[in-house]
Amino acid sequence: MRGLAPETRRLRRRMVASQLAGRGIRNCRVLAAMASVPREWFLPPHLAAEAYDDAPLPIGSGQTISQPLIVGLMTEALAPRRHDRVLEIGTGSGYQTAILARLADRVYTIERLPDLLVEAEERFRRLGLTNIETRLGDGAAGWSEGAPFQGIIVTAAAPGVPAPLTEQLAPGGRLVIPVGDLASQELVILQRGSTGLVERRAGGVRFVPLISRLAFTEEPWA
Ligand code: SAM
Repeated sequence: MRGLAPETRRLRRRMVASQLAGRGIRNCRVLAAMASVPREWFLPPHLAAEAYDDAPLPIGSGQTISQPLIVGLMTEALAPRRHDRVLEIGTGSGYQTAILARLADRVYTIERLPDLLVEAEERFRRLGLTNIETRLGDGAAGWSEGAPFQGIIVTAAAPGVPAPLTEQLAPGGRLVIPVGDLASQELVILQRGSTGLVERRAGGVRFVPLISRLAFTEEPWA
């Protein structure tokens, strides 16, 4: 299997040490999960050699797999625990999903583009990840049958936090989402405390848009 080649493992360990731990990611479970998932399996074959570059990469259909550092930062901000149920909006390649599946009890992931979802599902099968539920559709509406979630992560940019997502957040749960305009966003982390939602911001990011009647419509760039 490609992901088990010694050279690939070495590159992955180096990515974790220099791009993640070296830049302040401290959560050992997050670092271990990212050291265990072969990022090259989540890329089109012609880009596999770039899997451990410090960069986002195209995955087809005009979408991207996020830079490893951003995956690490968002996962650390979400801080999933072993018994948690986590919702992810924007399956994309499935890389972030696979990391979450290593950390949480069950991951629910929603993607709007059928081709990407089919490819991601095939990768989950190859990796033997059996704790992932997938759905095709608009993730901004959440997944009410699976709620409440201890963690919700949105891997596409929105102008604000879609209301269904905060409604589906469990007490104590965290929601991580890039909020801003089409050009740039800030990473927003909401936590449901005893007196309501507490917000913190964790710096600038740049994501593809969350396309939904609850976020960005397609018209501005169609
Ligand atoms: N987390 C992904 C990974 O590890 O490869 C990267 C996600 S990519 C930056 C954003 C994804 O969100 C795209 O695949 C896009 O099709 C998807 N997306 C955009 N709007 C969506 C929506 N309303 N519901 C579900 N998925 C959406």
